[in-house]
Parts: sequence; structure tokens; C-alpha cells
Amino acid sequence: MNKKLKKEIEKKFCCRLNQNQYQDLERLIFEVERRQNISTARLIDYLKINSGYDKRTGKNRFLALKNCLVKYRYPLTSAHEDINKKKLFLNKIQPVLKNNWVVRKTFKPATLFFEKETRGSYLVKNFQRQFPNLKIKQISTFKNYFKNNQFKIAKLKKPLVFITKETRDFLKPCPCTKNHLGCGYWIFNLGYGCPFDCSYCYLQQYTNSPGIVLPANLDDFFTQFDRFEKKLTGPVRIGTGEFLDSLALDHITNYSSRLISYFRNKKVLFELKTKSDKIENILREKPASNIIISWSLNPEKIVNSEEKGTPRLQERLAAAKKVQNAGFKVAFHFDPIIYYKNWEKDYQELTRLLYKKLSPPFAWISLGTLRANRQLKPIVEQRFPKSDIFYGELFIGEDKKIRYPQFLRETIYTKMFRWIRHFDSKTPLYLCMENKNIWKAVSTLKTTKNIENYLIKNNL
Ligand code: SF4
Repeated sequence: MNKKLKKEIEKKFCCRLNQNQYQDLERLIFEVERRQNISTARLIDYLKINSGYDKRTGKNRFLALKNCLVKYRYPLTSAHEDINKKKLFLNKIQPVLKNNWVVRKTFKPATLFFEKETRGSYLVKNFQRQFPNLKIKQISTFKNYFKNNQFKIAKLKKPLVFITKETRDFLKPCPCTKNHLGCGYWIFNLGYGCPFDCSYCYLQQYTNSPGIVLPANLDDFFTQFDRFEKKLTGPVRIGTGEFLDSLALDHITNYSSRLISYFRNKKVLFELKTKSDKIENILREKPASNIIISWSLNPEKIVNSEEKGTPRLQERLAAAKKVQNAGFKVAFHFDPIIYYKNWEKDYQELTRLLYKKLSPPFAWISLGTLRANRQLKPIVEQRFPKSDIFYGELFIGEDKKIRYPQFLRETIYTKMFRWIRHFDSKTPLYLCMENKNIWKAVSTLKTTKNIENYLIKNNL
């Protein structure tokens, strides 16, 4: 707590603040200063003139200050509607992490740990071959390792690699989010952790161990899928890339070659989702109509500031072009779409660039605006002090995640659909983790089943 600031507010506005009240004001002041580039002294002057505090007494004086700050902090939303204060997320200010591990553009593992049962596996050998000086250690199990080694968030991205034998978590339906429409996607759970370091990445808040976990027993994954397939009544969409970029380490894991060979004859649409340009293994494979390679895209400004360690936008588009030229179906994800001052110009330009470089139709394009569990924001503040994206107009939504308000999401999606449809009338478009009202604004699809069928029918 900034005691000096508390004293100053209490003195200037003749009030007493309890701890919660001060935390709210401190957070709002902090975020207004970040957004508006205004000094505390000027902000206090602003409050003196605009809050009407002097006409209130007691708790109402605090509320007058808070209301005034909320209006200043959320100008777009306040102009559009009354802000429900229960939807604000005013978390305690976090100190910036010291010694936060910074990712490098070229991945170089620090230590390789392998579970006893994976000794001699092709993955361990690949790492040894590509990094001859790599420190290698045998562990009993990954679970035991992280039970006995204290995890510090500053070391989240230390490039430790764990080669494991997966025994349980092979395949699962995408949980989507509460009260929202899903798309019927299945997650092929191959790998966890990621060599990239996107500021908005939800893995930061899920993870309680450092490094990257890579299962060596792909055959067991395939056996599990064979069983799952027998129960299927129709085709499904399935893919990797949920907990680890699908291609970022493909030059070491060779996962993509084995996945493509296995899934090419299956009655499913199999997707590899990436921000990477590691496409050498893909280009060696014969394309198949049910294999889709997809890229997440954002304007160059966001790639540079929020997607650390990833290939730049032009590199991703060039990789996608090569993969498309080789005969593969490609898809794209505009996710997360971030709202900022020049977002319209930048996202319109991004759309133009995509259609200049690649030929539609694509397997699909998904769109999703920035959203996160509340627990993520303090972690991002500690790990990415320069990032401003969580100082956008985000509120606690129906699913308890912080997101842009409904009217803003509707505006963003309507515009994005229009820009895409200007170039491309055929590619199926869908929203990721959105509610029925937002879907209604951009589409006639009304249920998860409708959405799933729409995406499958257009590709099989
Ligand atoms: S590429 Fe995906 S999984 Fe990797 S850090 Fe970025 S958001 Fe997270």
C-alpha cells in the first residue's frame, strides 16, 4: 500500500478511507495514470473539480471519488451505459517481478529431464542430437519433480524440458466457458508449457511448474484415439495447440509428421495451431483434405509488444503461404483481438494483408476478443510491466472472466466480419467463447451443434 498517497487523498478530500476503499481508489488512480499519461497531482486536481466530493459526507464522499475515477478510467463504457460497480476488477497493485526469465527468439533448452520410462525414447535422442552439450537428468516422474522443487513465477519460462510418459490426459472436449456457445472442439492434449511468452497467455495462471512437458509415448495417444473413434457417431474437429504451440518445437519433437500420418485416414478434421514458422516437417508430408494448419494472427504492433519470442507477423504469413502452396488447408485465428486507439486501422490492415498474401477460402477463421480469468491480471502485471492490454475497458463477465463489455465486442466482431467478408464470402467464420447475444449480431447460428456442423460440413 502506498501510505503517502493514502494520506494525501485523505487530506485533500477530508475523508478517512478503510483498506478496501483505499485499494479501490489506488487501483483506479494507477490505471487512469497508465492510460491517460497523467500525473497524480493533476489527477487529484481533476477529482477536486469533477467529483462533487465536497457536497457529500462520510462513505458517500468516497463513492463520489470512486464514481468520478470510474468514469475517467472507462470513458467508452461510461458514455454507453451505467457501469455496474460489481463488474469492476480492482485488484491490489502488484510489485514488478525481479529476475523474470526472458524468452529468447531461438529456443535453447537449459536442462532436459526425462522420466525413467522414456529413457532411450526418440524424443530424448532428438534433444541429445540437436543439443550435444545439454544437461540431462533422469527423474522418477514429472509429478514428483515439481512436488519437490519449489516453483517461482519468475522462472516460469526457464527452458526446462521434461520428457514424460502420459498415462491419463490424452484427449478431452474443449471446456469453452460457462454460459457461452462452444464449437464442439476436442483437444488432443500433446504437450504442456510453451517456448513462447505471450503476455495474455492463460498458461501463466494455470501452471505450477516451470518448463515444457513433452510426452514421448505418442503411440498411447493413438491407441486412446482409436478407442474414442469407435464411439463417435460422426466427424469431429480436434487439434493440438491448446497448452503448447503445435509447431514451435516441431523441429525437435517431429510430432507433426506422426500426427499427420496418423490422422490423414481418420474421419475427423485435425488441426495444428501455431504462431510458429517451423514448417519443415509439414512440407515433407503429403497433404490431406482433413489436415488443417492454422495460424494465430495479430497486428504487428501487438505481435511486437505482447507476443514475445514468436515469429513476426510477416514470418507467420510467409510460412502459411508455403504450407498452402504445398497443398494443405490453412486456417486463421484472430485471437485475442485487442481493443486500443488505432485498432480499426491495424486490424483492417491485418485483414488486407492476409488476403493479399494468401488465397481464400480457408478452412475457417475464428475470432475472439481479449478475455482472461481474473487471476491472470496480477501475474501479467508482475511479469509484463510494460503491457497495457489489461488496462483496456475490461469487466467481469457472465463467466467471471474479464472481457470487453457486450456492446464493444459486438462492434469489434461486426466490423471484423465485414472486413473479412469484403475479401472472402466463403470461409466459415466463428466466434470463440462468445454468448448467444453476440452470435446473434453476426450470424444465424444458434447452438453449439449448429456451429460444429457448419465448420465440419464446409470442410469434409
Ligand atoms: S503461443 Fe499460445 S501457448 Fe504459447 S505462450 Fe503464446 S498464447 Fe501461450
